[in-house]
Amino acid sequence: MKLNNNIIEIKGIGEKTTALFAKLNIYTINDLIHTMPRNYLSYNAPIDICDIEIEQRCAIFGTISSYIETKNVRNFKLTTCSVKDGTGTIRLNWFNSPYLKNVFHKGERYIFVGTVKYKNNMMVMDMPEYYRQDVYQNMLKEMQPVYSLTEGLSNKVFQKSIIKCMDVFNQLDDFLTEDLRQKYNLMPVCEAFKNIHFPSDEETLKEAIKRIAFDEFYKFIVDMDDFKNDNNKLENNHRITQGKNVMNFIDELPFKLTKGQSEAIEDVLADMGSEGVMNRLIQGDVGSGKTVVAEACLFACAMEGYQGALMAPTEVLAKQHFAEIEPLFNKYGIKTACLVGSTSLKEKRHIYEMLKNKEIDVIVGTHAIIEDKVVFNDLGLVVTDEQHRFGVNQRKKIASKGNSPHVLVMSATPIPRTLAMIMYADLDISVISEMPKGRKPIKNCVVGTDYRNTAYRFIKSQVELGNQAYVICPMVDESDTMDLSNVVEYTDMLQSALGNEVKVSMLHGQMKASEKNEIMEKYLRKEIDVLVSTTVIEVGINNPNSTVMMVENAERFGLATLHQLRGRVGRGSKQSYCIFICTKRNSDSLERLKVLENSNDGFYIASEDLKLRGPGDFWGIRQSGDVLFRIADIYNHADMLRLAQDIYQKYGNLISDYEEYNKINKNIDLLSKPVL
Ligand code: ADP
Ligand code: MG
Repeated sequence: MKLNNNIIEIKGIGEKTTALFAKLNIYTINDLIHTMPRNYLSYNAPIDICDIEIEQRCAIFGTISSYIETKNVRNFKLTTCSVKDGTGTIRLNWFNSPYLKNVFHKGERYIFVGTVKYKNNMMVMDMPEYYRQDVYQNMLKEMQPVYSLTEGLSNKVFQKSIIKCMDVFNQLDDFLTEDLRQKYNLMPVCEAFKNIHFPSDEETLKEAIKRIAFDEFYKFIVDMDDFKNDNNKLENNHRITQGKNVMNFIDELPFKLTKGQSEAIEDVLADMGSEGVMNRLIQGDVGSGKTVVAEACLFACAMEGYQGALMAPTEVLAKQHFAEIEPLFNKYGIKTACLVGSTSLKEKRHIYEMLKNKEIDVIVGTHAIIEDKVVFNDLGLVVTDEQHRFGVNQRKKIASKGNSPHVLVMSATPIPRTLAMIMYADLDISVISEMPKGRKPIKNCVVGTDYRNTAYRFIKSQVELGNQAYVICPMVDESDTMDLSNVVEYTDMLQSALGNEVKVSMLHGQMKASEKNEIMEKYLRKEIDVLVSTTVIEVGINNPNSTVMMVENAERFGLATLHQLRGRVGRGSKQSYCIFICTKRNSDSLERLKVLENSNDGFYIASEDLKLRGPGDFWGIRQSGDVLFRIADIYNHADMLRLAQDIYQKYGNLISDYEEYNKINKNIDLLSKPVL
């Protein structure tokens, strides 16, 4: 067998399974090998049903004591049965798996593994895995990879398919010579992939992950360097010297700038007035006031007579920026416009026309402003907000709309300076390290699930005061259907807990962008009191009326993500609160979350998160939903990032056939992807 063989050539894989793999974009053996498990589980001995702890993962060994029933619930099929073991009874639920009716029968004994919840006064295990006793015996204490699946394709089939490809792993090419691997203590690529799928022990698995992380960083650095050479040292075609006017602009603001803001504005003005083009990153924690730096910069550009563009990752954020900028700039006769995906075609055409004729000085918008149809008259400056949501190529694309315009990017991602210098190698960096004065520090608490009802009462009392709240719903990633049913169920439950006078709405990943926008806008207009959502849907949103952020399953998020979520509240003068519900009772999770309770400093939090990683956190906890690298994590593998940089500086590009390398490694175009 060869890497590029179709998976149908693997023994035991038929057309049906091939079609299922295709849904996961797995067509060849190479694809299969390069599909990383999303987690590893170890299996423990079964416990008695009477000893089950709610919301903890466990195994039970019991007898199926009811008939297997399948019924339609909302838009999915629910298959359920009861299981008892002499110490108690629990209910098992599976979603969209009606075939199980033919797998299980009343009276049979199985080991069921899953997380138990309490629903309608019953202990329920959703989507449990099931094993015969002899099979389970062999799995005890072994580390089992868990793959992302699709309906009808089980983890078992996935694993078996890879086992049959064992011989093919040796065909994976290694761009590091054995000498280099030994010198820098890196595992061979084929060993690394073998261990990813069949870990022999934790230590070896960690080494395997490190090697793959190294490769990802190295490839990124190679690409980045190409980009940097193309991009930097460009001549400044837009000399902007508006120091005096900018001073006036700042004096008119309703607040005094912080030291960090002033310095950032000085850096930016110096850049734009210099020989070379500006390529600068403004890094500042959520709420540190980056927008005003962007505004000062756009203002200077417009006053000098050039056009400027501000690009935000979402419509809601773009519209918010526009609402703030328009009146500010209007006073000086600077003409502004807002261009987003949902802008009407007629309006869009009008804006294109005006941009071309220089009847608009500053355009604020989303990706809509980098569409091909958009032509500027003389674009002097491009600002991208929340840079971690954009890739380098998007930045390049908008920059290409002018004659090498200045580029300013803003990011709230707390990453240490040395790492930022590698990740953003093409940019100079200004850091805003302090918060504006007069903010009331957010009150935090980390609590167990027994605190939920108290939290609901608290949210209700805040709503009665006219405030709003966000609730981040428990995340279940076993299957999409389940995730959705979970938000729906949770929202219903929350609505009944809060009562009908409180308006509760939900946002989830499977909604259309237009639906999401509509809900976000309703929330901003206060037509919704409590917003339930699955993950971090909107970065950068400013709704100073939100005073509560409640996060369910807080232990599942990286601290930096939780800190970003927390940044959604405490943005006005009102006292704000964060409630982190921790469902795991082990002390590690609690200790990690306590860091949040004790600090509001994003940089500190991200670095503590690293130190407190538990021994089982192989992948690290993803710091955000946007993942640039498949495996590498800036925080977790900082040493590999530095090593990749080192080796690149010493030996240059070691990847001989670059295209082939990308193909084999299924490399995503890193420069098109967001950074974190
Ligand atoms: P972020 O850095 O997260 O983008 P914003 O620019 O949205 O932060 O600023 C958050 C809030 O703080 C805004 O309401 C803004 O008007 C306000 N703000 C910014 N700078 C100052 C300052 N120096 N003093 C007081 N308030 C400020
Ligand atoms: Mg912002």
